[in-house]
Amino acid sequence: MKILVLNCGSSSLKYQLIDMTTEAALAKGLVERIGIAGSRLVHQKEGMDKVTIESDIPNHDVAVKLVIEALMDAGHGVISDVSEIKAAGHRVVHGGEFFTKSAIVTDEVKKAISECVALAPLHNPANLTGIEACEKLMGDTPQVAVFDTAFHQTMPEKAFLYPIPYGLYEKYKIRKYGFHGTSHNYVTARAAAMLGKPIEQLKLISCHLGNGASVCAVDGGKSVDTSMGLTPLEGLMMGTRSGDMDPAAVAFIMDKEGLTTKQMENLLNKESGVLGISGISSDFRDIEDAVAKGNERAKTTLDMFHYRVAKYIGSYAAAMNGVDAVIFTAGVGENGTDTRLAICEYLGYLGVNADEAKNNVRGKEVDFSVDGAKVRALAIPTNEELVIARDTHGLCK
Ligand code: AMP
Repeated sequence: MKILVLNCGSSSLKYQLIDMTTEAALAKGLVERIGIAGSRLVHQKEGMDKVTIESDIPNHDVAVKLVIEALMDAGHGVISDVSEIKAAGHRVVHGGEFFTKSAIVTDEVKKAISECVALAPLHNPANLTGIEACEKLMGDTPQVAVFDTAFHQTMPEKAFLYPIPYGLYEKYKIRKYGFHGTSHNYVTARAAAMLGKPIEQLKLISCHLGNGASVCAVDGGKSVDTSMGLTPLEGLMMGTRSGDMDPAAVAFIMDKEGLTTKQMENLLNKESGVLGISGISSDFRDIEDAVAKGNERAKTTLDMFHYRVAKYIGSYAAAMNGVDAVIFTAGVGENGTDTRLAICEYLGYLGVNADEAKNNVRGKEVDFSVDGAKVRALAIPTNEELVIARDTHGLCK
């Protein structure tokens, strides 16, 4: 069974075609600049070079059509007919309190996704557009929605409520939802396999450290707390996002700088975090290069990032009354060997003890703890597309 996995942004569309018998990606690609001049599709059949198709791509309908054509192409394609795609799985960012697991798309499901637009105004409309484009082009092929928030719906009230007037939760559903759920779900399941124990018996802390970053406490396979909140702005300092700060500072800055709510949102989401402090870049590789050249502010940026991740790990160890393993994943977590070591330096008191030689591995699963360390330190490449494909397969068998 072949499953098409789609991740639609407002002007982009990432895809993979996954064969569920082997769970291998047969082809993958990215449509960029949808609705903007210079739009193109970059497609890659497994084991072959990338091909770039420059074309006018005014909307997601045309983007999905081009993806299907690329998948059926005589040269770089992997299927001969669209009917070989048995289902499509869509990443949907916000499922609110409606979805505790993935769902086959129906009119009701689409309505619920629409109702969450206010909570994810940049993402949910694009996700819906992608679903509707596939519905138009793929006839009766089942579509499945897989939510970033669903994995965290197991959080208890004490973790997801904000200490503000309760009526605001009742009226607007203002609460912590959490994101990166498919990633935390995948890496914690892999961690249990690596440790050779049932996940029900494990307390795990998963650190998804990419351009967006979040930490999740997973007790017995269930998310019990996570650092992102109502939106993906809360929690860790990220590439361009501030993460946690005093909410009173928001009104203060708006007042002093004469900013509108939109401008303030932009400052916190796009101009802060690693970029905001370093003044150099949101990319960790650029910051590491600057540190190597003696840039002090770049050093402060990394120090802040490590410190803030370590504080979350400590608080989640307290929340679960213990931890068996700390997991690092996503771009920085999988490749940033110095970042992993610097964070582990803070965690000796918990029983984390990183082995520098074992840690010297990028993009591969590794337990980089010294032999006998009480708490294991693991690096695990995430695979959100595979989780989406598995959920889709499970619902469409
Ligand atoms: P993601 O959002 O998961 O794609 O992660 C993107 C982040 O991973 C960027 O900030 C990159 O700088 C970072 N990254 C990728 N490769 C490395 C590397 N070798 N060392 C440090 N950071 C890296």
